[in-house]
Amino acid sequence: MRGVRQITANLYQISVGGASAFLVVEDMITVIDAGRRRSGPRILECIRDLGRSPEEISHIVSTHYHLDHIGGIAHLQAASAGRVAVHRSEVPFVQGGKPLPSPFRNPLLAFLMSPLVRLARPPRFSVDLCLQDGDMFEPLGGMEVVHTPGHTPGSISLYFSREGLLIAGDALAVRRGSLQLPSRWFTSDMAQAKESVRRLAGLDFEVLCLSHFPPLLKNASKDLRCFAENLH
Ligand SMILES: [Zn+2]
Ligand SMILES: [Zn+2]
Repeated sequence: MRGVRQITANLYQISVGGASAFLVVEDMITVIDAGRRRSGPRILECIRDLGRSPEEISHIVSTHYHLDHIGGIAHLQAASAGRVAVHRSEVPFVQGGKPLPSPFRNPLLAFLMSPLVRLARPPRFSVDLCLQDGDMFEPLGGMEVVHTPGHTPGSISLYFSREGLLIAGDALAVRRGSLQLPSRWFTSDMAQAKESVRRLAGLDFEVLCLSHFPPLLKNASKDLRCFAENLH
């Protein structure tokens, strides 16, 4: 399937809207992030291409409220019985109680880009589960919510300790083949983002998945520890 990468026996990364959706496929399916506002149908098509059905979606999890991560959630929610899970600090923004902040941190850029951001605004959706640090879910023998604020206040990473896998969303980037902090153009608090990277560096995993980059498949936590030790 074009734009779909199988990372482990049960994990797929789908390229959608310049970001990624991840599918954890077991008896039931967990979708992690959902691309932009028109990405929902593409994610459902991938599920069908795997010989599965949208009815098998049990959870739809957002790593953070940026428009290239939550855009397709309303569509998936309408097409399945999946329970939508968002960090509790981002719930009012995705449900529409508060305006979704511009992803651009620079005020002038935020102003200039506002017509485009308005066009790309994700449809609202209702949240079934308000997440917080330490919440545990079933997928892959245990999926733990790790609150990793900085890129956005409610950014989360998902840690599967049994599987040796971390999905860190936009908490990290890769440039010139090396791990880096997330882009400061789109990150609300760089000091917090550094703290979150240090926290992730304390976990043990082999595989690291990021939303805008290919996965690191071997010794990823060792690489992250090296990077975190040199952060100032
Ligand atoms: Zn982001
Ligand atoms: Zn992103």
